[in-house]
Amino acid sequence: MSVATSTQARPAQWQEKLGVVLFFVLCALLARRVLQAAGSQTVVMIAVSAVLGFVTADLVSGLVHWLFDTWFARTTPVLGKTFVTPFRVHHEDPLDITRHGFVATNGHNCLVSVPVLALALLLPSGPEAPWASSALTFVLMLCLGVFGTNQFHKWSHMQNVSPLVSWLQERGIILGREHHDVHHTAPHTSHYCITTGWLNRPLEAIGFFDGMEKLITAVTGLQPREETMNLPAVTPEAPESTPAPDLATP
Ligand SMILES: [Zn+2]
Ligand SMILES: [Zn+2]
Repeated sequence: MSVATSTQARPAQWQEKLGVVLFFVLCALLARRVLQAAGSQTVVMIAVSAVLGFVTADLVSGLVHWLFDTWFARTTPVLGKTFVTPFRVHHEDPLDITRHGFVATNGHNCLVSVPVLALALLLPSGPEAPWASSALTFVLMLCLGVFGTNQFHKWSHMQNVSPLVSWLQERGIILGREHHDVHHTAPHTSHYCITTGWLNRPLEAIGFFDGMEKLITAVTGLQPREETMNLPAVTPEAPESTPAPDLATP
């Protein structure tokens, strides 16, 4: 999961287009399996699984975001260009993400979810697996949450969003604008979760990321944010330029 940013808006690549198509096809197939298996469990169990899937997506977004904000450098082999740089660029130009189209914004996360959805489709869902509807619902909602992360994140940086998106943001159902602004306030060391943001306050309350950093430093000797500590102060937000055409998503 990346924030899908770059220094310039770029056209979507064919792999990302393929990833988006495969993602929606596999989600449709998995949703059909969920409906077929739905009779084996109560509505409450399925609803709890759905919420847990979305909460897990929020946790995954926070862990990935924290990992690449805090550790490694733009020059780190393999990871630097693809994963670290987009997160560092996003702090320098938070509105860059708003200039990306739908596929460029969401293609990477679709590609990440495709193998997970494919594996879920291999799970048994007949009478021998009474837990199937809950498990498949969890995976489906997890993948939908992962898919939504970049879109919700993008929306949180846009001045103008659709009334539905604004409604969802104001009620905290998806990542809210003011909520995410906290992360974009120096030193950028809190509110890493960017799907719904539901876990940000609980994780802050227990000092989760701070504790993880202390543990990693104790074990490896590495210091968090080593690269960014040596850079000049982050530039303020530039005025929003060309809005992305896909206001319907994040
Ligand atoms: Zn960040
Ligand atoms: Zn952001």
